Amino acid sequence: MIRSARLIGAAIVAALSTALVQLQMADGSIAAAPEPSAVIAYRAPVVRPVADLLAIQGIRLRSGRLLSARTHRVLRPTAFPPRVKWAGQPVSLADEVPEGAALSVVQGRDQVERLVRRRVQSHADTHAGLYLPGAPGIVELRVGAVSGEVVSRRVIRPSKHGPLRIPGSVLLTFDDGPDPTWTPQVLNLLRQRHVHAVFCVIGREARRHPDLVRRIVREGHVLCDHTESHDEHLATEPLAVARGQIAAGAQAVWVATGQRPTWFRAPGGAWSPMVERLAREQGMTPLKWTVDPRDWQRPAARVIVARVLEAARPGSIVLMHDGGGDRRTSAAALRSLLVLLPRMGLRFAEPTPG
Ligand SMILES: [Zn+2]
Repeated sequence: MIRSARLIGAAIVAALSTALVQLQMADGSIAAAPEPSAVIAYRAPVVRPVADLLAIQGIRLRSGRLLSARTHRVLRPTAFPPRVKWAGQPVSLADEVPEGAALSVVQGRDQVERLVRRRVQSHADTHAGLYLPGAPGIVELRVGAVSGEVVSRRVIRPSKHGPLRIPGSVLLTFDDGPDPTWTPQVLNLLRQRHVHAVFCVIGREARRHPDLVRRIVREGHVLCDHTESHDEHLATEPLAVARGQIAAGAQAVWVATGQRPTWFRAPGGAWSPMVERLAREQGMTPLKWTVDPRDWQRPAARVIVARVLEAARPGSIVLMHDGGGDRRTSAAALRSLLVLLPRMGLRFAEPTPG
């Protein structure tokens, strides 16, 4: 009874396993097992790589991109990879899973970089040698942590300049030269009165008339970069174009004089934080103006004179032109202003390098 039960058990084992080819009999002897004739109950599952299963199901994985804070340009195209899970566990594309496995897919999402706060010094930029240096200000910027793009700026403490170097002084500035007709006339008038000014030269014109650029320096005036080709859209140009315009203008001055200009003035007053930063990066200080008699529109000399006299006060920076067209009335106005401004109690500032 016991013996036959053990034999039956052995036969069942033999039927279930192809590996079992020998049987141990109940009395200890070894007997050859019969070839298994029954269909094997266990069938190995078909497995496939995760990548194949996703392809079969038409699922395309997407990475999320890291985008910059302000312009949303792509900083890292695959910053946030998609995630695939099987039975709650992460799997890679090469992992093999059963054919019917239920995979869960979380696509990567685009994300904007985080912002950081950064405090920087700000500078009073309208002194142009008129004022003694004062206390720099503090500006708090919110910038992209990766791109450095400025999203917002807040003045924590405004910059201050010191008192006027020469009490009661105004600064004369001349733009858009050098011009072979008008620049010498302006220089002659200034020399007669022992007055010095800032000349904001256009790179292209400075290359044409390097002798005039050298004369400006030789006679004690100060040079200012006014871009290569008087780009009035500097603030909206692509960064590389704006940087190139500023660099080429400065280079023209350097070629003519062996000195780099220390001031920069944006043509048409097209200032922006980017333009100011580019100028500073290239070692120049932004030079703005406070009195604009619009002499470039060629009003009569007396109109230019009246506009300047009405607006000028201690610390004024007066914008006039010695190039860019017929500057007859500008030169005539200058002749009068060199006499009339001192009569109003104003004096002429001695421009200094930035
Ligand atoms: Zn100009």
